[in-house]
Amino acid sequence: MVRVRFAPSPTGPLHIGGLRTALFNFLFARKNNGKFILRIEDTDQLRYVPGAEEYIIEALRWVGLDYDEGPDVGGHYGPYRQSERINLYRKYAEELVEKGWAYYAFDTPEELEAMRLRLREAKSPVQLYNHLTRDGMKNSFTMSQQEVKARIEAGEPYVIRFNMPADRQIIVHDIIRGEVKVNSNTLDDKVLFKSDGFPTYHLANIVDDHLMEISHVIRGEEWLPSLPLHVLLYEAFGWEAPQFAHLPLILKPNGKGKLSKRDGDQMGFPVFPLDWTDPKTGEKTRGYREWGYLPEAVINILAMLGWNPGTDQEIFTLEELIDQFSLERVQKSGAKFDPDKARWFNQQHLRRKSNEELAKMFLPILQSHGIDVDMGYLLKVIDLMKDRVEFVEEFWSKGYFFFKPPQDYDAKGLKKAWKEQTPQIMRDLKDKIAQIKNFTAENIEKELKEWVEEKELSFSKVFTPLRLLIQGTTSGPHLFEMLELIGKDEIIKRIEAGLQNIEKKK
Ligand code: GLU
Repeated sequence: MVRVRFAPSPTGPLHIGGLRTALFNFLFARKNNGKFILRIEDTDQLRYVPGAEEYIIEALRWVGLDYDEGPDVGGHYGPYRQSERINLYRKYAEELVEKGWAYYAFDTPEELEAMRLRLREAKSPVQLYNHLTRDGMKNSFTMSQQEVKARIEAGEPYVIRFNMPADRQIIVHDIIRGEVKVNSNTLDDKVLFKSDGFPTYHLANIVDDHLMEISHVIRGEEWLPSLPLHVLLYEAFGWEAPQFAHLPLILKPNGKGKLSKRDGDQMGFPVFPLDWTDPKTGEKTRGYREWGYLPEAVINILAMLGWNPGTDQEIFTLEELIDQFSLERVQKSGAKFDPDKARWFNQQHLRRKSNEELAKMFLPILQSHGIDVDMGYLLKVIDLMKDRVEFVEEFWSKGYFFFKPPQDYDAKGLKKAWKEQTPQIMRDLKDKIAQIKNFTAENIEKELKEWVEEKELSFSKVFTPLRLLIQGTTSGPHLFEMLELIGKDEIIKRIEAGLQNIEKKK
């Protein structure tokens, strides 16, 4: 039975890297008829950020990653919030002490710092609490059992540390990376249980993965260094370890280092799924949703960051991804984030939507601009503009002239296309347009082109200024379709008003 979990810590908004981890877990679960679980790892009181858990849940819902078990949906393996399981972990830490795999330590922060300083002064390449140094510290190795007991009973603060064996060649298997070998001498005696009575991530994570019968741990590459410890913890408890898969990092667009919020701020793209307001500083960051990305596009963008189907197919629905996903096709090397490609994915998914769906999404934007419009007309505008936009909002920013006259005339366009003889040509053109009886795109095109030829003018001399008068800019949707849609009377009005406005400015 495949059981996988997404186990975020509520320490801030979910980064898209976290959302990708959730996605790959979800895909793996659905593909293998398994269960996808959400577990909130909130044992680090210092890093807890209010609102972060709600944010994570909302983000998962928005992109459609429904989980089978989780804090707000329940399940047989709950509770799914580690802070609600807090009484459970101590006994596991103590079990390891009894087995000799862990020990009590009483060192104060000052004593720990003094140890590191000593090692630095002795030019030791690493400053670790381990088999070489633990004998010089205050712990179960250097104190009698009675003393340890007396100190604990007296309420002295202590931690429980893992007794990392010396000289062990630890070999772990990762589905994506193959065999990973680590010598235990490079590892330290990690704290498993803290003086505040809370487990550390390592202990809680292993205990919960075991109790929740997790079959595969799929998580970010940043957890790979913890893997040897985790594997030894399974050995220490005598539990069967799950299988592991560490996903590649998501890199900056230039490939140099991990993608960060700052990259997004600097280059103008989101790195969080939803808007986020930092509860401490009040700083607001825009999310994919509010930016206008479609959830299905976000899924597609994330899927292609580190996974590929082995074919040319790039556009996927969630269903298609479930069908084709496998961990074997996840790459080892980092995946560069490409902001242009991200927009392209949005455009592709937008084009797959019906005109009716797009109209429904666009209506609130129109209303916010005070526009009340006939559905038939709106659908035609959508149809004409659909291939020219990447985001729904652009139906307005690139096509507002379908709903009201241009507010301004593009200065560059005017400079290039507005010549001395242009006003006269436009006046003649207006008269010509007024005479067109059958005002369909096809017929407008035929009659206007004939007219241009008769007058021995060029298309660009006539049609570029015309576009400027009708829409304020020099490029846009199919000209004659647009003229038909806006309608003869309005076109004539705009030519007249535009001529006045432009000449006034000169
Ligand atoms: N709580 C860890 C995190 O925030 C989970 C790591 C894991 O999946 O083991 O990423």
